[in-house]
Amino acid sequence: MDLGISGRTAIVCASSKGLGRACALALAQEGVNVVINARTAADVSRTAEEIRDLTGVSVTEVVADITTPAGRAALLTAAPTPDILVNNAGGPGPGDFRDWDEAVWQDAINANMITPILLIKATIDGMIARRFGRIVNITSRSVKTPLPALGLSNGARAGLTGFVAGLSRQVAAHNVVINNLLPGPFETDRIRTSAAREAGKSGLSLDQIMAKRAAEIPVGRLGQPDEFGKACAFLCSSHAEFIIGQNLLLDGGGFASTI
Ligand code: NAP
Repeated sequence: MDLGISGRTAIVCASSKGLGRACALALAQEGVNVVINARTAADVSRTAEEIRDLTGVSVTEVVADITTPAGRAALLTAAPTPDILVNNAGGPGPGDFRDWDEAVWQDAINANMITPILLIKATIDGMIARRFGRIVNITSRSVKTPLPALGLSNGARAGLTGFVAGLSRQVAAHNVVINNLLPGPFETDRIRTSAAREAGKSGLSLDQIMAKRAAEIPVGRLGQPDEFGKACAFLCSSHAEFIIGQNLLLDGGGFASTI
């Protein structure tokens, strides 16, 4: 299927690794010129080089913290009029809510709610004027099914989801399409770090923890980032105009519901 987005430009936040990288690569494979971003310069250059070699599109590198005003400004300077925006940032860590003070909450809300909203605000009027825009927010299955240790994620991402539910309907008539992708367990650095933490506490090996997590998923394995990237590319495609304000769960069937 031709996704109909060759030659367009995308900003993909937090994309040197993991799910963000997979979205940037999948878009690049469709001929989209991408602006990629992360805080670690060496990782950004390596990923940019890989995407260029694999696809031949233009890849612009922005080394910046997306959760800061300066970081967002740097991305918008690199691509002032993007056709596609993929919002992503590091997720908040686990813990007990009794240990989180106001600053911890402000950081989580800034990274996972306010930053994507400010980037949407900065780009959406251009999309409306050009009558094409695609915005995908990478959130989490925690929006659908709260995870006990991830209260910061449960709370901050629910705020973004509520905002997007309203805005997506207000801009849909202009061929500006906003949706959220909700990852379950995908095999990325983030999940390997959390599995290593669990291994340290439980006395099981890292491989045993990863196998235990895979066994909890109906598909019987963790998700692979490229599967996530392809779903993102479809939601950014010319065929997605009628998919508005949805929360697409990619979790191998882990969240069981009848409808
Ligand atoms: P990952 O493999 O750890 O990759 C995170 C990427 O984001 C890296 O490129 C990292 O590079 C960049 N990044 C982090 N904070 C940033 C910041 N402030 N500014 C710019 N770039 C930043 O993580 P992932 O697994 O792809 O997760 C992506 C998102 O999905 C997270 O919010 C995570 O909570 C959520 N999620 C993931 C899963 C999963 O199973 N993987 C499940 C549910 C939700 P630098 O560190 O160099 O900046």
